[in-house]
Amino acid sequence: MRILLVEDDLQLARGLHQSLRAEGFTANHVNDAKSAWLTVQTNECDMLVLDLGLPDMDGLSLLKKIRQHHIRIPVLILTARDSIEDKIKGLDQGADDYLSKPFDVHELIARLRVIERRLGTAVSSVIKIKEVSLDSASHVVNIADTILDLPRKEFMVLKILMEQAGRIQSREQLESKLYEWGEEVASNAIEVHIHHLRKKLPDGFIKTIRGVGYSVAKGN
Ligand code: CA
Repeated sequence: MRILLVEDDLQLARGLHQSLRAEGFTANHVNDAKSAWLTVQTNECDMLVLDLGLPDMDGLSLLKKIRQHHIRIPVLILTARDSIEDKIKGLDQGADDYLSKPFDVHELIARLRVIERRLGTAVSSVIKIKEVSLDSASHVVNIADTILDLPRKEFMVLKILMEQAGRIQSREQLESKLYEWGEEVASNAIEVHIHHLRKKLPDGFIKTIRGVGYSVAKGN
């Protein structure tokens, strides 16, 4: 899940960015509406966390523009304006959720997960395929009753493959979901993560489709 954080309070943005990463989201940050608009159009993010008081344009006007262009990206508004009228206006203009500042970062993350679940196929935070179960809220992966300790990126690769079970993810797709803009990515990074994951997972759990990508089969 790639989140675009649109926030001109740099200190807040930095803190949020760290928390989002720690929770397994890929987050990119921009601090004005113009950059947000460019990014949304290129389809490089799955969700928007949008501050309303931006330097170049009101966040609500940006939201309106996004919806006028029939871009359906989920939007969570983050703002110091907390009157009921402001909330109604935001939701009416197509926001999916609304959080008033100051807020608890854990609440923000829980709400983002709700949106994430609505988007994806998962109905709860736990996905189970064969004997492997992955909990995206607690970041715990179990094989039968044994807990598997996975580094963050390996966890993310497995999460993407399990969420999209039955579908093939190309190396490029995995890279774009896993790495942030400007982050240095070794050309074999995905192969390395897959290699490590395979050593920890049951045989054949992750399949390679030569020249195309990777997939995890659907199943119970
Ligand atoms: Ca602001």
